Amino acid sequence: MTGANIDTSNQPSYDVIVIGGGAGGLNAALVLARARRTVAVVDSGEPRNAPSAHMHSFLSRDGVPPLTVLEAGRAEISRYGVVRIDGRADQVEAAEAGGYVVRLEGGATLDARHVVLATGLRDELPEIPGVRAMWGEDVHFCPYCHGYEVRDRPIVVLGVHPASPGQALLLRQWSPHIVYVPHSRPLTDEERERMDARGVEVVEGPVSTLLSKDGRLHTVELADGRTVECAGVFLFPAMTPNDGAFDGLGCEKDEQGWLVTDRSGRTSRPGLWAVGNVTDSRAQAVTAAGMGAAAAFALNHDLVDEEIERDLAAHRAAAGRSGASVPMC
Ligand SMILES: Cc1cc2nc3c(=O)[nH]c(=O)nc-3n(C[C@H](O)[C@H](O)[C@H](O)COP(=O)(O)OP(=O)(O)OC[C@H]3O[C@@H](n4cnc5c(N)ncnc54)[C@H](O)[C@@H]3O)c2cc1C
Repeated sequence: MTGANIDTSNQPSYDVIVIGGGAGGLNAALVLARARRTVAVVDSGEPRNAPSAHMHSFLSRDGVPPLTVLEAGRAEISRYGVVRIDGRADQVEAAEAGGYVVRLEGGATLDARHVVLATGLRDELPEIPGVRAMWGEDVHFCPYCHGYEVRDRPIVVLGVHPASPGQALLLRQWSPHIVYVPHSRPLTDEERERMDARGVEVVEGPVSTLLSKDGRLHTVELADGRTVECAGVFLFPAMTPNDGAFDGLGCEKDEQGWLVTDRSGRTSRPGLWAVGNVTDSRAQAVTAAGMGAAAAFALNHDLVDEEIERDLAAHRAAAGRSGASVPMC
């Protein structure tokens, strides 16, 4: 059943349903399956880093295409019997008998004792011609992922977000040739002074288009016709968590609207977990994978605790019936 679109109308209950099959979700599923839990992963197959040809800063996988890494992960979880369902989970609801019902797009439902949300986030890109086409190739946001590839070369940072000036100052670590264009986000005097101090050139915007040749970026063109040649553009997108499946369940969120979890990925509602970019926009792929593993550990412990309580109650009931005395703790 792995990997195929399957008929989910008569699925058995799972210990855990993982929604999202990126690095976070797959690693959670791997650890849970190896803990002999029944696990299903529902995944709509659009990991955030898919536009990039190569993934970096993931030990032992540096420079490997992101989808190759995920294919390997899918094969690994399949070996342990994890059921993979290609599709989208629309909503999670509390089940009357305890646990949760996961409602899939199209109407089928699955039920599980616990649910891990690993659905990542959406990057909202500025509507500048060329940005979307070159996103992940020559237009980036994360210096730790793609800064090294344009080290020492000319880089333009587009000012489109409150974090953009900090991004330009950070990128100075990778190249001495940083140009900051305050496209829609003017600099304060203090920020301008910092740019000067760090040798970041400021070229007043706005930007009209990114120009490419043979699919590769070479120039940023400004609205007044001036141009800045560059090997890479960095911008800080607005980021929105894909957490709609948990709407209505009352999970606590922080002031910015992101799900609050403990260090193991527990949300404020028992049985619901969140890992990776859906709860932490800064998580790189390796971090998301680690969050998935940490949640799987804690989740399995919670299930074992529930099972001990259940077995203890049954044991005491049986002992009571037979008249044997059971030591109470
Ligand atoms: C262009 C780009 C390049 C990057 N390069 C790197 C890099 O080189 N190195 C690095 O470490 N990090 C990189 N990152 C960051 C990396 O993408 C994230 O750290 C990583 O994807 C987070 O993993 P995740 O499992 O939380 O989410 P994702 O990988 O985004 O996976 C989420 C999965 O959930 C699925 N999903 C979403 N909603 C639903 C739903 N309702 N039902 C079912 N499935 C759903 C999605 O289709 C997706 O498959 C890059 C990011 C971008 C944007």
